[in-house]
Amino acid sequence: MGAPWTVLKFGGDSVATYESWRTIARETAERATHGRVLVVCSALAGVTDLLLKAVTDARSGNAGDALARVERAHLGLASAAGLDPAAPALAPMRSQLEEAARLLEGVRLTGEAPPRLTARILAVGELASTRLGEAILAKLGVKARWLDARDLLESAPRPLDPDERRYLAASVPPTRAPERVDAAAGEDRVVLTQGFIARTPEGHTCLLGRGGSDTSAALLAALSGAEALEIWTDVPGLFTADPRQVPAARLIRNIGYREARELASLGAKVLHPPCLDPVARHGIPVSIRATPHPEMPGTRIEGESEAHPAVTAVTCRPGGTLLSISTVAMWDTPGFLSRFFAPFETLGVSVDLIGTSETAVSVTLDSVPGGIDGAVFRRLLAGLGELGEVQVIHPCAVVSIVGRRIRATLGEIAPALTAFQERPVHLISNSAEDLNLSFVVDEEEGTALVRRLHDLLFSARGDDPRLGPTWERLRGAPAPEAGTAWWELRRAELLAIAGDGRAHYVYDLATVRERARRLKGALPAIDRFYYSMKANPHPAILETVAAEGFGIECVSIQEVETARARLGAGAPLLFTPNFCAVDEYVRAAALGAELTVDGPHLAREAGALLEGREVAVRLDPGWGAGHNEKVRTGGAGSKFGHPIDEFDELATALAGAGARLVGLHAHLGSGILAPQAWLALAHVLAGIAARVGPSLRWIDLGGGLGVPERPGQPELDLDALQAGLATIARALPAIEWRLEPGRYLVADAGVLLAPVTQIRRKAQTVFVGVATGMNSLIRPALYGAWHPIVNLTRHPAPPDLFAQVVGPICESGDVLGRDRWIRAPSVGDVLLIGNAGAYGRAMASSYNLRPPAEETVLA
Ligand code: ADP
Ligand code: ASP
Ligand code: MG
Repeated sequence: MGAPWTVLKFGGDSVATYESWRTIARETAERATHGRVLVVCSALAGVTDLLLKAVTDARSGNAGDALARVERAHLGLASAAGLDPAAPALAPMRSQLEEAARLLEGVRLTGEAPPRLTARILAVGELASTRLGEAILAKLGVKARWLDARDLLESAPRPLDPDERRYLAASVPPTRAPERVDAAAGEDRVVLTQGFIARTPEGHTCLLGRGGSDTSAALLAALSGAEALEIWTDVPGLFTADPRQVPAARLIRNIGYREARELASLGAKVLHPPCLDPVARHGIPVSIRATPHPEMPGTRIEGESEAHPAVTAVTCRPGGTLLSISTVAMWDTPGFLSRFFAPFETLGVSVDLIGTSETAVSVTLDSVPGGIDGAVFRRLLAGLGELGEVQVIHPCAVVSIVGRRIRATLGEIAPALTAFQERPVHLISNSAEDLNLSFVVDEEEGTALVRRLHDLLFSARGDDPRLGPTWERLRGAPAPEAGTAWWELRRAELLAIAGDGRAHYVYDLATVRERARRLKGALPAIDRFYYSMKANPHPAILETVAAEGFGIECVSIQEVETARARLGAGAPLLFTPNFCAVDEYVRAAALGAELTVDGPHLAREAGALLEGREVAVRLDPGWGAGHNEKVRTGGAGSKFGHPIDEFDELATALAGAGARLVGLHAHLGSGILAPQAWLALAHVLAGIAARVGPSLRWIDLGGGLGVPERPGQPELDLDALQAGLATIARALPAIEWRLEPGRYLVADAGVLLAPVTQIRRKAQTVFVGVATGMNSLIRPALYGAWHPIVNLTRHPAPPDLFAQVVGPICESGDVLGRDRWIRAPSVGDVLLIGNAGAYGRAMASSYNLRPPAEETVLA
């Protein structure tokens, strides 16, 4: 047994330029130093389409110029690579092109191109590209053994398969037989072969379907027992939507085989759907990488997806056909469906989505052998016509929301369904495996719907460690217009502060003030604001918000003590701890804080404290919200609050202890950008208010007001929040409404300055090391949070380096910014990490005994 194989597949765009072949040569040579490499190539971009056009032209008796364009593409690439088109090294390529000319001439003379002949002509694309590739690689110093894929992959047609399927969309069983590949490779460490083509058991050329080179590569990975499959294409991975249609689509960093397969089947063209089965079956990990950007990490596909419900992507598959049949004969006729499906089986047409009612069945067809003008489709319609009235809608598109346990995400998806307003939907289907919710629409609506749905589902979505940067960011879209953020205006002061080579948090109090005023101005429906000091307890910030008329919300006795000491006896303090000792309540009460109780335990354990005291209860409405799983504080699995369904028991227990219930409190989570969250909560708490009676004075809707993190994320719509709250508040005029913002007041007001200590390249990855890491800012490691990073020293020079910004802590998670475009720094440049005023220093530690960044306040 030789060294392990890695299979690298390069698509049409990835083999079309000399520049790309340099990448192919470099990546291949690098892997060949510690293993063996099987390189699988597509035809040059556009060549399969041209060959198909040449066949069509020839069939109608025209010579056409499609084949001449194919030849020009190959010769153009050869000369770009510095190869003489007449050189002997290119003789095998030339003979492939001559073969195509000969076969096409046969088509022209007979006027016929049966599938078997068409397959042989189209195969020339891959045969010629790999012959040319062999010569280019040799020129670049990589000796590759050229193998004919038809000697390695054999199809297994089913008896009823029409010729279209047998020759143009064949399937090959995923066998494992490393000895066959080893024998074919001999002593060579690099093998070069074709995607897309295989042979039938009779020895004829067959194709694996358009886009089938991915599947060839997966089959060859299975066959050779490869340790990895890499699919190199023109985009750096699988995205949450087709990045060419949706620039805000986000990179999916990791995904399981099943979910990836679902995405591919539903239109994520970057993967040929059948390519996932062979690799999943043999547990071979797959990476999707970008040939134009080998430094980007791409997507990794392996294992099973996690179990919790999630929306992963929006896809669109155009070119489909919707077939409906309606008949009263269905009524009460057992077995009608089997009669409906019989012609599909006989004719080898596979059905995709299905919807049924008492008198109608609708199905979508992804593809019909021979197209909808062909004989197969005509016979299908004739067969179905005997059962009832048939209706055909073509072309249509299937737009799908793809993810895991989609039925459990309906609440999250619901608002996005407004995208379908005034657009006809012909069929809705939820896959039996619960991996997608699909909508059949007119084809021309497809792209617009995907954009809209993606926007509604992903733009307000917070951190998700599975998701990476947007496509526009990865492409290095220019940074937003420079000039207006406070830190840009005060750049010189910031650079002076970081001039000592150490990391610093810097806060701008004017921004805190501006935020506080903006909030109060926009939300007159809120009578009283409390600053949630856990976001940033710096004394100067406490004083600033108190001066703006904010009370302070505290979650520990230490916070109560700090706020009281700093702000004096008059400051309104609200104590909202969870799982805290009775003693803390006693001390907080002694310091004059209002108490929020989150369960009946206090009534049992601290009756004396509650006797005659005014208290509020913290309720869990049964759901939470927020930028990350870890910051959602509602729902059965969360440790916060008393279940709202059991409010009466809690009220009785508190009354029994002699307490007077004056407030209702609930908090959904952190970093919420959708106003509906608080409005839904306000409705629920207003419903409870009637059960409390006249003692109730206030309702506190908690905090969690989010600040956009990523460029393009919408701001929290305060006007919509105000409008909704005003309506609810009008129904309860005697109640004081409260809100507890934390992050909203301070996030933007703080930055972390981190001088660059090292710049290192490992293989293709560039690491920029800075003076501090997760000990100062743990949010990226803990939540996968995204903080903007700019090279302040060189600001506003546009970014030109794709890098990983890392700290000095001994943890692989110590990455402050993954996959970032920044202006290439020198050691000593100061990187600014933005949006760091909230939960930055407040969550810092001295892990590794490295002190976290010190704080400076700008008045
Ligand atoms: P290749 O020729 O390398 O096989 P393809 O054209 O078959 O490349 O696939 C790459 C294309 O897939 C991308 O250019 C992109 O437009 C498209 N695509 C569609 N949906 C997605 C998605 N969800 N993620 C990434 N790419 C997608
Ligand atoms: N060249 C083939 C096609 O264009 C196969 C592939 O590129 O995957 O369909
Ligand atoms: Mg492809």
